[in-house]
Amino acid sequence: MPKLSNLSQGRGYLAIPGPSVMPEAVLNAMHRPAPNIYAGEIVDMMPPLMEDLRRIAGTQHHVAMYIGNGHAAWEASLSNVVAPGDKVLVPATGRFGHGWGDAATGIGADVEVMDFGLQSTMDIDQIADRLEADTNHEIKAVLAVHVDTSTSVVNDIAGLRAALDAADHPALLMVDCIASFACDRFEMDNWGADVMVTACQKGLMVPPGVSFVFFNDRAAAVRDAMPRVSRFWDWTPRANPEEFYQYHCGTAPTHHIYGLRAALDMIHDEGLEAVWQRHETLARAVWAACDAWGAEGDLSLNIADPALRSHAVTALRLKAPQATELRDWVEGNIGLTLGIGLGMAPKGSPESHGFFRLGHMGHVNGQMIMGMLGGIEAGMSALGIKRGSGALEAAAKVIGGA
Ligand SMILES: *Cc1c(COP(=O)(O)O)cnc(C)c1O
Repeated sequence: MPKLSNLSQGRGYLAIPGPSVMPEAVLNAMHRPAPNIYAGEIVDMMPPLMEDLRRIAGTQHHVAMYIGNGHAAWEASLSNVVAPGDKVLVPATGRFGHGWGDAATGIGADVEVMDFGLQSTMDIDQIADRLEADTNHEIKAVLAVHVDTSTSVVNDIAGLRAALDAADHPALLMVDCIASFACDRFEMDNWGADVMVTACQKGLMVPPGVSFVFFNDRAAAVRDAMPRVSRFWDWTPRANPEEFYQYHCGTAPTHHIYGLRAALDMIHDEGLEAVWQRHETLARAVWAACDAWGAEGDLSLNIADPALRSHAVTALRLKAPQATELRDWVEGNIGLTLGIGLGMAPKGSPESHGFFRLGHMGHVNGQMIMGMLGGIEAGMSALGIKRGSGALEAAAKVIGGA
């Protein structure tokens, strides 16, 4: 229970890996009466919105927008190119890889999971061997998660493309960028992704509710050869609408369109390279603090190699139940909400209380990160959690550019 000295009044920081912090500009843009959906502003807003999304994705090709969350984008993408009985390969590096694979099972695919565990990236060589062995080209698609939000690992998508090319394998390379979009560098066309899915509530800083599927001409050809694609998921009319309603297969997500416009303007004003750079610097500050804390006691970064860590989210390990105690303390006492550990141990098990995550995606700046780290320091101090010293100084040096 909150104590008399509770310090949680004031602006909170929801430091979970999605939904992320919503900018005032986004919320203000959404606070308006419903527009006419048959003519006028909302109709004119869509083409430039799609263009700006393509620019962030690094693709010249197509994008379809869906009313729905990330799971909807998973299902949308699969529904267009994977028929019942088709084989898909899922190199999993955490909960979300398994989740997308499960979505494929749900639409009747024959799913083969290559599980790379919870603390490492994909082993591209092993995947290459599997592709080489598939001489009949039964694998129709490879479902790869760029940043698995549960483990905070970042996977080498260009490397996966190279493996497919080296094996001369025609499988589509499908990539989940839901956590990484507008946070970690991603270049769809340059890296050779055929399909990419993302959603609006993480790096795009918009309340959950819309998601996107990007696809190239190769993927479009696979869709055209499908025995059937259900009307709602079909990406073709959404990406090439003759009528406005076709963008969304019905009523437009009017307020999300306004919010998204504001968010894309913010990203554009800052510059995409600068957005990626900001995320990298803030992530390095977080890691510097965690390294210092981890020098004594039980805290450790889930992904040991900094080159394999996402800039959007950091997964951490602590002695159970200290992670849960720490999350409870900072949320109850100082207005800071940290992410739960996800997929690291069975839900509710004693071990599950030894994992937590820090979301640092989207509308996040230097003082927020220093505040989050300071808050964690306060929590560990209050709870008597053993840790190394100098964490805040180490983070401050990164933030200060030293
Ligand atoms: C958040 C997330 C999802 C799921 O998105 P929902 O909107 O919760 O359905 C899928 N994949 C990744 C990598 C994510 O970070």
